[in-house]
Amino acid sequence: MDDLKIGCIMDYKNVKTAIIGGGASGLAAAIACSEKLGKGSTVIIERQPRTGRKLLATGNGRCNITNINMSSEHYYGDKSIIDSVLSEFSVEESERFFGGMGIIFRSDGEGRMYPYSNQATTVLDGLRLECERLGVEEICDFLITDVQKKNNVFLISSKTLTVRAKYVVFATGSQASPLLGANGSGYGILSKLGIESSPLFPALSPISTKEKYKNLKGVRTKGKVSLIADEKPLKSVKGEIQFTDYGLSGICVFEISRFVNEFFRLGKICGTSYGKIKISVDVMNEYSYNELYEYLCKCRKIFASYKSDVLLSAALNKKLSQTIARYCGLDSKPCFRLTDSDIKKIVFGVKKFEFTPIITNSYKSAQVSAGGINSDYIDPVTLMSNKIENLFVVGELLDVDGECGGYNLHFAFGSAMIPAKYMK
Ligand SMILES: Cc1cc2nc3c(=O)[nH]c(=O)nc-3n(C[C@H](O)[C@H](O)[C@H](O)COP(=O)(O)OP(=O)(O)OC[C@H]3O[C@@H](n4cnc5c(N)ncnc54)[C@H](O)[C@@H]3O)c2cc1C
Repeated sequence: MDDLKIGCIMDYKNVKTAIIGGGASGLAAAIACSEKLGKGSTVIIERQPRTGRKLLATGNGRCNITNINMSSEHYYGDKSIIDSVLSEFSVEESERFFGGMGIIFRSDGEGRMYPYSNQATTVLDGLRLECERLGVEEICDFLITDVQKKNNVFLISSKTLTVRAKYVVFATGSQASPLLGANGSGYGILSKLGIESSPLFPALSPISTKEKYKNLKGVRTKGKVSLIADEKPLKSVKGEIQFTDYGLSGICVFEISRFVNEFFRLGKICGTSYGKIKISVDVMNEYSYNELYEYLCKCRKIFASYKSDVLLSAALNKKLSQTIARYCGLDSKPCFRLTDSDIKKIVFGVKKFEFTPIITNSYKSAQVSAGGINSDYIDPVTLMSNKIENLFVVGELLDVDGECGGYNLHFAFGSAMIPAKYMK
């Protein structure tokens, strides 16, 4: 590559492809482009000191890379883009791509796939080494602030660097998890080029609630979390629930959060307007109302001489059992005094433990952003701009977000494979 340094301004010339953003999708896109166009053809420009910082934090440091149950049902957003990417990039394709770097996968038994090493570093090191082997240049510590196209050449600029390229791939991710370096700057640069994003909101985040049960902080249990909008149950997810001092967390709460944040951002959920929402938690979802009623009637006898806050203590975490008895207003009543209608009230407390979500800056702890660049601006097949030839958008910048379980990384890697197919 022919580079000139003028004062502190670096001017890289004659690069075929510039990838903006060295995260999951940027690294994978660079590999695909360099394989297609040859050594020295591709640069990655990353604003942080190193590429792949967020990738290292994925899956609690284990990197949940894909999912055996891959299908469009696990995604939200622009359907044409989702279908197009999934049709090009299956789980087998992912295994083949990473297999080329020596990386093998294993499943956790529930469909989630991780690198065999169980370490996200394996994936990042594999991508970096592959970039090195293919002669991809990484230019770190440069925040791209402007992209222009002049005479069929893209001028991609930071304060002190301009890269000129025939092709540009935007892989700057979203603003989710700023502590891991996300800043959402790609949307602004694209907007200056006339490529607008659909409304953005955080997804896969904890939910802050009006009700604060500080004593429940750290309590984890299995159960079912439901989103109720205008008294109608809209979505239920089973799995681990984690109580916090500010509200609710855990995988099933993360999955509900997308709709809560959409409601706060747009007043709508999946296109329908609603007036008010709440979260209902069922902490004994394997038991029907009748089964639970019978069980609690039995416990009423067993714990007859004790206060009602122990009624659930043989089935639930102690703090949770006390909190639910208090939530029902029955914690100080002796068990033998509980009437049948008190027992019914506790059954409802267990199966409909209700919370009111409140707005917070949930990008801080969100794993992804919903919304983004959609097929109004991008061809879903090529991922190239409809208006600006040779400008591609990949990864989380696109209007696609997946459920927990490896779907977001799968989409980031899958979308990254596409632009190279349309480069010469
Ligand atoms: C804590 C956490 C855990 C997660 N765990 C999982 C998981 O296990 N499985 C899963 O499927 N998904 C997971 N995700 C989601 C997944 O990490 C993202 O969907 C994925 O990283 C998106 O890839 P991307 O390349 O689009 O963006 P990113 O990985 O965010 O990369 C974007 C890169 O662009 C750089 N950049 C941004 N703007 C500029 C600019 N103007 N100039 C230069 N560089 C710029 C950023 O610094 C960053 O390095 C997790 C997310 C978080 C936060």
